[in-house]
Amino acid sequence: MILDPTVAPRVSRPTHVEIDLDQLTANYRAVEAAVAPARMLPVVKAGAYGHGLVEVARLFESCGPAGLAVAFLEEGAVLREAGIVCPILVMGGLDTSQIPDFLHFNLAMTVSSIQAVGPIEEAAGRLGTVARVHAKVDTGMGRMGVRPEGATELLDALLRSRHAELEAVYSHFATADEPDPAQTLDQIATYRGVVSYFGERDLPTPTLHLANSGAVLQHPDSYFHLVRPGLMLYGVYPTDAIPRTVGIRPALTWRSRVVLSKRQPAGSPVSYGATWTPDHDTRIVVVPMGYGDGFPRLLSNRAEVLIRGRRHPVVGRVCMDQFMVEAGPETDVRVGDDVVIIGTQGEETITANEVAAWARTIPYEVLTGITSRVPRRYRGGAEQHDLGGKTPPE
Ligand SMILES: *Cc1c(COP(=O)(O)O)cnc(C)c1O
Repeated sequence: MILDPTVAPRVSRPTHVEIDLDQLTANYRAVEAAVAPARMLPVVKAGAYGHGLVEVARLFESCGPAGLAVAFLEEGAVLREAGIVCPILVMGGLDTSQIPDFLHFNLAMTVSSIQAVGPIEEAAGRLGTVARVHAKVDTGMGRMGVRPEGATELLDALLRSRHAELEAVYSHFATADEPDPAQTLDQIATYRGVVSYFGERDLPTPTLHLANSGAVLQHPDSYFHLVRPGLMLYGVYPTDAIPRTVGIRPALTWRSRVVLSKRQPAGSPVSYGATWTPDHDTRIVVVPMGYGDGFPRLLSNRAEVLIRGRRHPVVGRVCMDQFMVEAGPETDVRVGDDVVIIGTQGEETITANEVAAWARTIPYEVLTGITSRVPRRYRGGAEQHDLGGKTPPE
């Protein structure tokens, strides 16, 4: 069962994610200091990259950002209902049927095409209100945003509009976290060209924002008025291939506990498909979590976990609710021992980047893939509190 996010379980689970709110604050302050005088627009989409949408939004709001950014209307609505009052930008595409909800929850919408301007005018006019708009330009990502050659027409329409307030013009990088700067420099130049619209007409320039985590690390000339970091606020570098110009540390530890330890004789296979068979007598232990919790099945026979401060291999297929680990023939590993899937135990650390490499993906997918079945527990922050599974990630 994937837990219903609206239903709070009253029991604890050995498998959980622990989030260090003080480390999140430290990461926020490190990025903020690095980009000043640009201000922060922290990205908390996808359950704050698995760290818990509402908890993290509350924390970052208390840090004094220019606003918060999410992907979808629904995420913004959840934040408003949780009492978040700072500006919220919804970065995803605009489904025009949702415009009244954007207005109701006072969420800034991303406008990527002139077709959206009419419906915004109509809805905001009917409701007697003003729509907050961030125009988005596609400077080379090839996703959301108006193509540069259409930007003038879109900006003209938005500035003519009576019920849309053009608060910002932004864009997004495709390769800012790669060592080769060529495309990023191109995108910055294209963006500068588009926003020269305002200077050329003697109009006040709205807020400009462009930089994601990769650009914060590598491209200070992309900071403009606000930066939009996501991943790095959670203490994770997008890749190991670029310089670590800002000091951040992971805030998330993914833990479980050994629930069974047993002898596994030579020649006796482990798990579905019998993909692993020891050629020696050994011991295996069972860890009560699996792909239903977001531990990818691709990690079968590939990942390692920490038990008693040492690395141990995941053996056999990862199941929905369990996976097995070879503890070794003479092991001191016992039922009840802590298992660290991501995080530090003793002198050893497994990072989200390392798990991502084993699963042939990126740390973003590993973190956002931790499902709502895994309780999030919070440490630190203004007050100590352990929600023990009562707050699901979204
Ligand atoms: C997700 C996202 C970000 C944040 O990217 P990171 O690489 O996590 O820093 C910024 N801008 C947009 C438009 C996004 O979709």
